[in-house]
Amino acid sequence: MAGETDNYDAIVIGAGYGGVTTAALMAKAGKRVLILEKGTQPGGKAVTIRKGGAAYEMWPIAGGPSEGSRFHELVRDLGLDPAELIVMPEQTGEFLYRDASGEWLKFGFSSRPSEDPGAAGRMPKALGIDPADLGGMMQMTASIFSMPEDEIAKHDETSTLEWLGQFNLPEPLMAYMGVVLNLLFVVPIDRLPVSEAVRTLKDFFRGGGGRYHAGGFGHIAELAVGYVESHGGKLLTSQRVVRILIEDGRAVGVATSDGEYRAPVVISNAGVQPTVLKLLTGADLDSEYIDKVKSYEPSWAFVGVRYFLDAPVFEYPMYLAFSDESWWESTRFAAAEAGDWPEDPLLFVAVPGLYDTSLIPDSDHQVALVGTLSSPDPESPMNDAAIEKVEEMTARLWPAITNHLVRKEIYNAHSVSAASRDAVVPGQGGECIGLAQVIGQCGASKPDIRGPVPGLYFTGCDAGGYGCGTHQAVESGFVVAEAVLADLG
Ligand SMILES: Cc1cc2nc3c(=O)[nH]c(=O)nc-3n(C[C@H](O)[C@H](O)[C@H](O)COP(=O)(O)OP(=O)(O)OC[C@H]3O[C@@H](n4cnc5c(N)ncnc54)[C@H](O)[C@@H]3O)c2cc1C
Repeated sequence: MAGETDNYDAIVIGAGYGGVTTAALMAKAGKRVLILEKGTQPGGKAVTIRKGGAAYEMWPIAGGPSEGSRFHELVRDLGLDPAELIVMPEQTGEFLYRDASGEWLKFGFSSRPSEDPGAAGRMPKALGIDPADLGGMMQMTASIFSMPEDEIAKHDETSTLEWLGQFNLPEPLMAYMGVVLNLLFVVPIDRLPVSEAVRTLKDFFRGGGGRYHAGGFGHIAELAVGYVESHGGKLLTSQRVVRILIEDGRAVGVATSDGEYRAPVVISNAGVQPTVLKLLTGADLDSEYIDKVKSYEPSWAFVGVRYFLDAPVFEYPMYLAFSDESWWESTRFAAAEAGDWPEDPLLFVAVPGLYDTSLIPDSDHQVALVGTLSSPDPESPMNDAAIEKVEEMTARLWPAITNHLVRKEIYNAHSVSAASRDAVVPGQGGECIGLAQVIGQCGASKPDIRGPVPGLYFTGCDAGGYGCGTHQAVESGFVVAEAVLADLG
């Protein structure tokens, strides 16, 4: 399909959740959108793999908030019913906390928001915390719930770790908050801005966390593309965009190895850094802007192992194992990067077939994705060390895995970069989320959704949104669609 001549209103580079959300909302507003994806199917980092009648996730996926999410809005905009697509099991998973004596304490959690007033006390009780020490937790919860938006917005430069310090949380609760924040944002919590943390935690407190999607986490991206195609648009896969075409100083289309495609608007889901530093080579850009883009920092990576099992080893779709040493700020991350790992790094487990039993036809079989935090640098030796830790800890916590292992696949910063985002500056490429949600890159300092040349926009986790992973991408998709539609008049 080289040199597509159809009249498209917009071209979207990349079919990740940011790209497909923007495309679907523009299609809903009557625009014809061409999506060009270098991979073979939509979903981006949240793609669902379908092989031999089975479906599983490329990378661990559970979403939050569970209820009241932007995914619900997107599904409704596609003319579908969220109740049929959003999965929220009553018992979603288990937290495993290794206390100071070395004992593993377990407590279950639900992806649904609880209406039981006693629920808030159950987790601290399971962590062995004296109820007399819960004042700080209650103050923190009240602060998060009651902070108005104008107050939140004042905290783009406030460190979440410092802010948490005022509540004097008992150590197990601090560990719990630390690993949850690490998992939601994949950044050091001393550099996570309070504005980002509080906005997101508020959504989770209200709506719960741990949502999944019937048919696979990437299924809603596939439905969004179907919607675009039924409204005059098109997805072309295996189409790597190599250049954004610039004429008279504005974006007028893109080039792939197959040919050129033209439209008055180009929306890139390929990441701010790859878009500016690799695809915009024909534009005459201000050197200060280029330096700024080069200086952006990626989120950490999330790396691990996909275990294919011939027997049910896991009972629940999700687990999070941690100890007091598992949550990371900058110093702890630097120590692990230098080879000094905690005995129990944060371990996150997702078993998609337990969310939706139709994914794996053989009900005895399981695919489990187990992973931890690591460096986003595709060449970093930290990735191998992290995977060794994941394997050692998984075998310790679920010894049955060894007897039921059919095969395993490793995912690391290198494979994440190869399948999603090009590495264009040293140390970047394998990031889990996108540009890091750290002070200086969030709230008012978040990169602009408008690119450096007219007609070019960014969608996805790098610009326009807030929140956890995929939710941030969809949020951005909404913000960008609204702005582009307004600009198009
Ligand atoms: C290991 C791992 C685990 C994760 N776990 C979770 C989780 O449990 N929950 C959660 O919410 N989030 C999770 N995330 C994060 C989440 O997947 C991402 O934040 C989100 O999917 C990013 O969406 P996006 O739209 O910004 O970009 P992406 O998903 O990266 O999409 C970008 C798309 O653009 C395409 N593309 C790039 N360059 C080009 C080009 N030149 N031409 C054409 N196409 C191009 C890519 O192939 C890709 O499809 C995880 C991520 C990883 C890597």
